[in-house]
Amino acid sequence: MIKKKKNLVPELLAPAGNLEKVKIGLMYGADAFYMGMPSFSMRSRTNNFTQDSLMEAVDLIRKNKKTLYMTMNIYPRGNKIDAFKKHLKFVREVVKPDAIIVADPGVFELIKEHYPEAVLHMSVQANVLNYRSVEFWKKQGASRIILPRELMLSEIKEIHENVPDIELEFFVHGAICMAYSGRCLLSNYMTGRDSNQGICAHSCRWKYKVYLEEEKRPGEMIAVDEDEHGTYFMNSKDMCLLPYIKDLYDSGICSFKIEGRNKSEYYLATVVKAYRKAIDDMLAGKKFDKTLIDEVESTANRGFIPGYLFGFPSKDDIHYGAGTPLQKKKFMGMVLEEKNKNEYLVDIKNKLLAGDKLEVMTPDENFEVEVSEILDTEGNVLTEAHGGAGNRVLKFKGNKKTIPVYAMLRMKC
Ligand code: SF4
Repeated sequence: MIKKKKNLVPELLAPAGNLEKVKIGLMYGADAFYMGMPSFSMRSRTNNFTQDSLMEAVDLIRKNKKTLYMTMNIYPRGNKIDAFKKHLKFVREVVKPDAIIVADPGVFELIKEHYPEAVLHMSVQANVLNYRSVEFWKKQGASRIILPRELMLSEIKEIHENVPDIELEFFVHGAICMAYSGRCLLSNYMTGRDSNQGICAHSCRWKYKVYLEEEKRPGEMIAVDEDEHGTYFMNSKDMCLLPYIKDLYDSGICSFKIEGRNKSEYYLATVVKAYRKAIDDMLAGKKFDKTLIDEVESTANRGFIPGYLFGFPSKDDIHYGAGTPLQKKKFMGMVLEEKNKNEYLVDIKNKLLAGDKLEVMTPDENFEVEVSEILDTEGNVLTEAHGGAGNRVLKFKGNKKTIPVYAMLRMKC
């Protein structure tokens, strides 16, 4: 059995893009959440928190005795500083988070002046890559460093050995930038959307109909793959560190962070559930359960790599040449309400027909059901249901299991 080290109680940290995602994260096993108001944190275009819905989410997290981190990790221009101070007042007086995630040194100072009791975590955007830098931020008053994805396991270990009394957090799952986390202007250049203001358009993952040859390196072509939709030359694979949770924990990581505040409810439930099990198994001294990989592969992904954990990935390793994500299972719907026995209101996500067999995923188990009937909310019988056409009532034939709200329905691709 692995002993929980002081300051190293492992924490599964989930993205919270809206109130519903907090509910789902809680149900599927997250210990902590990171969230922020659109103007002051990354992922601002897909984050629809208002002050009211944010407070509902905060209350829910508090009631469940979980941890809350507020993201204030943009690099603000001078004209945003006053608004930032106002927001900080709201965060201090109303939200009272367990910590604030910050990247910009000016914002760091500002928080220390206006919210002196705040616990400060250095964002991944701050690119804290070595132990001297960690020491620097510790001296300034930071209590946790979110280490860049670009670090190798041996470098994480070196940081922990040199500065053992600071918490280290690491992204273990999700999309990665083709540049140093967020430090690129591609999106600004192509769309006017600034990646360091939380509004990156992910231009590196778009289709491009060009190929690359550097002028001074004739003949050294950068691999450009093409499918029927287009060409993808900057499209990185996704990171999955499920098999390395124990290595990361032994190297000093205490917080395992999942990327994706703008990803689907299904992604959140599946990934949180898989990492919850991996962490619990590690703490119980069990071997890594390889079937968890199948679970995360059932969500949309660009092929998984272990990031930079064992060295700089080669071009072939990191580059995902196709545009369409891989996905072993299709997200068919999310259960919203039990209407009657074996009759559920479902938020439909993909086309389904009466007679289809679906897999139900709950926090505790996965099992199969057969759709016997599809109804609209007025009770009219339908032959099929479509994603985006509104909620539908699904009846399941002969099911004996409990299907909770936020159970996910999926189907093999
Ligand atoms: S365009 Fe791509 S590499 Fe640049 S910040 Fe956005 S996600 Fe990262």
